[in-house]
Amino acid sequence: MSTFRSGYVAIVGRPNVGKSTLINALLGQKVAAVSPRPQTTRKRQLGILTLEGAQLVFVDTPGIHAPRHRLGEFLNQEAGEALQNVDAVAWLVDASVEPTQDDRRVAEVLASLPARIRRFIVLNKTDLVPTEMEDRRGQQYAALAEGASVHRISAKYRAGLGGLLEALIAALPARPADFPDEQVTDLYEREIVADLIREACLNSLRDEVPHSLAVRIDDFKERETGATYIAATIFVERESQKGIVIGQGGKMLKAIGTAARAEIEAMGGHKAFLELRVKVLKDWRNDPTILKRLGYRLKREKR
Ligand code: GDP
Ligand code: MG
Repeated sequence: MSTFRSGYVAIVGRPNVGKSTLINALLGQKVAAVSPRPQTTRKRQLGILTLEGAQLVFVDTPGIHAPRHRLGEFLNQEAGEALQNVDAVAWLVDASVEPTQDDRRVAEVLASLPARIRRFIVLNKTDLVPTEMEDRRGQQYAALAEGASVHRISAKYRAGLGGLLEALIAALPARPADFPDEQVTDLYEREIVADLIREACLNSLRDEVPHSLAVRIDDFKERETGATYIAATIFVERESQKGIVIGQGGKMLKAIGTAARAEIEAMGGHKAFLELRVKVLKDWRNDPTILKRLGYRLKREKR
């Protein structure tokens, strides 16, 4: 018998490189919100993959980026803290673009981590570029992170994932699993549902509205029939945004509800009833009390 390995793997990288897509592909089911727009994943999430000889606990960190407002600070804080206690870091980069300033920032964070943490550069979206470009990008990103090995994948088309998994497992310590086999996330189902509703909003809405959104689950009941009844409130910052989210004659809100319900049913495997409300909560992104109420934990106040 070979040794069982178990540990924590952080998935880092700037917004939109495909972190959520990779986690979903590895876990084979929807646990992290995926969106064509950056920053869907606001809370730290774990996806747990248990195999014959290993358990990998993935930490899906929010993008590391320059803080623009309090929520931005929160994201940086979460990302930094999530990284201290991991065994390996997979830095996801986009093969179709040159390293950006944000990538350099991530590279700096990686360089500052304790030496015991193994680093991997995961060159994603290789389906979008020819091989020569892939080689070049691999070199460009490798130049930013000394000692990191480069792995090429396409999270979307599930290419190269087996090799990446093997390398990650080899970087984990030999020790028993922390979680039972069947557990895939440490998030409550209702938090995942909130993420799916937020994702539906982001996919339906344009302009600045998506970044001013928060979702709170008000009611979550499993009916005897196996169906789930969910009531949720979508918070926006301004009256005008409320109008946009509701749409003419309630059309937009209905579309959001339909899209979110489809995802919730696909995840849970049973019927769901979803009731959505929209409320204005002025300037919630800059109010620590409201952030706390919505489930964002601001751990350190700025001195
Ligand atoms: P995150 O912000 O890093 O979590 O990125 P997401 O997982 O939300 O992905 C952002 C966008 O990139 C989505 O539209 C994905 O479908 C797309 N994407 C992710 N991985 C790949 C890939 O390997 N190839 C291509 N072509 N698109 C990808
Ligand atoms: Mg994401």
